Amino acid sequence: MRTQPQASHFIDGAYVEDAAGAPLAVLNPATGDTIARLHEATPAIIDRALASAARAQVAWAALRPVERARILRRASDIIRDRNADLSLLETLDTGKPIQETEVADWPSGADALEYYAGLAPSVTGETVPLGPDFAYSIREPLGVCVGIGAWNYPSQIACWKAAPALAMGNAMVFKPSETTPLGALKLADILMEAGAPAGIFNVVQGMGAVGAALVTDPRVAKVSLTGSVPTGRKVYAAAAEGIRHVTMELGGKSPLIVFADADLDSAVGAAMLGNFYSSGQICSNGTRVFVHRDVKEDFLSRLKARAEAIVMGDPTDPATQMGPLVSAAQHEKVTAYVARAKAEGARLVTGGGSEGLFVQPTVFADVTDTMTLACEEVFGPVMAVLDFDIEEEVIARANATEFGLAAGVFTADITRAHRVVARLQAGTVWINAYNLTPVESSFGGVKLSGVGRENGKAAIEHYTQLKSVYVGMGPVDAPY
Ligand code: NAD
Repeated sequence: MRTQPQASHFIDGAYVEDAAGAPLAVLNPATGDTIARLHEATPAIIDRALASAARAQVAWAALRPVERARILRRASDIIRDRNADLSLLETLDTGKPIQETEVADWPSGADALEYYAGLAPSVTGETVPLGPDFAYSIREPLGVCVGIGAWNYPSQIACWKAAPALAMGNAMVFKPSETTPLGALKLADILMEAGAPAGIFNVVQGMGAVGAALVTDPRVAKVSLTGSVPTGRKVYAAAAEGIRHVTMELGGKSPLIVFADADLDSAVGAAMLGNFYSSGQICSNGTRVFVHRDVKEDFLSRLKARAEAIVMGDPTDPATQMGPLVSAAQHEKVTAYVARAKAEGARLVTGGGSEGLFVQPTVFADVTDTMTLACEEVFGPVMAVLDFDIEEEVIARANATEFGLAAGVFTADITRAHRVVARLQAGTVWINAYNLTPVESSFGGVKLSGVGRENGKAAIEHYTQLKSVYVGMGPVDAPY
């Protein structure tokens, strides 16, 4: 398959190159091969992208919502028709197995486009009776929005941001992660093919500095970032300078609590999904697995057997269940955490080995709350299993983190499930499930894990603002 795009950027409806930008090589993490050579956006490219978005947004916002919706729905159909090719490109760009990308990446992006296309025409204001006078509200787009993506779900992230933004009449300039820049260009291309006007969705490439230049431009009304907490702090602060709207989708160290009455096979399966899917490179992963002491050894022995049966290898092979980490830098970080967990006295149950950029599915037991593995986001296939005895204790320990992205509870007792969920500090909580993120349900973090929400009806509010209109029906009663 051809992995080299026509050009590095997509601006005003067309691929654009500017060879003056610093070179950006795109590697296939499974082989180390260079699959594309791009250039970072120069200030001139950034300016063109923002100017194009600002110009296009006015006419786009003036369309009837059903007209915008029709285009987004068409784009979602095109994505579904081309899912095989798009997923292969995603696999080559990220190293994630094709059996994942074909079901979880672009398909979720298509869902987002379809979902917000469906919602767009029904977003209305309200009328407020005020005696003879009245007021009404209009839900207006924000204007030009900037999207900045992480590398773990590059195309899904682009779609999750573009879909609500565009549906509500905004334009977007999107900067993908420099590590996985290819999918967003495809989205831009597909939106144009679906009939979107030029300039509505532009893509510029580059490292953090390109993102920073976008965030501080006076033409920008909103910034939506998916990334780490340190980057989130910088972007939030930079956006604050211009009093811009923000959505921050940041990191996590989420708890998954397994009570003694849980269906253990399901709990093991969920813990594996929540630690090994995408080689563990998922923000909402349940990386602190609290297992009730009565079932801990049973849980660990089932987990070990299933983890050791995971098929690692060529991500383009449909039989492969786990691929490499996304980059050498990520691999170095993850293997250092494995070494540190051993040094701090955690018990290695399985895995721990590594070859190339591949890291075995790894489980540590007897992890305590103060070990590095229980405190910091690893973003690799490394599960920490911690013991607990009583409900009250595990809730307090689950919440004893600066993060608050997600959490999971496994129990057969529905009263307990809801009681515990009510007290967990997290933006998304699963009961007897883990890491399912349908676009219909909102997603986002509390505490350091973020502000704002993606997906669901909640995202509409994050891509619109209210205008209140007071209508005077009689003469003005002035005291002067
Ligand atoms: P990162 O923070 O290193 O980079 C994210 C993006 O921000 C990249 O596009 C990067 O170029 C850009 N960037 C960096 N510095 C910037 C600056 N000063 N101004 C503007 N943009 C800047 O994150 P990453 O390594 O790409 O992704 C992994 C992280 O993302 C993890 O912490 C993970 O938890 C988080 N994540 C969160 C979610 C979520 O929805 N909450 C989803 C996926 C990943």
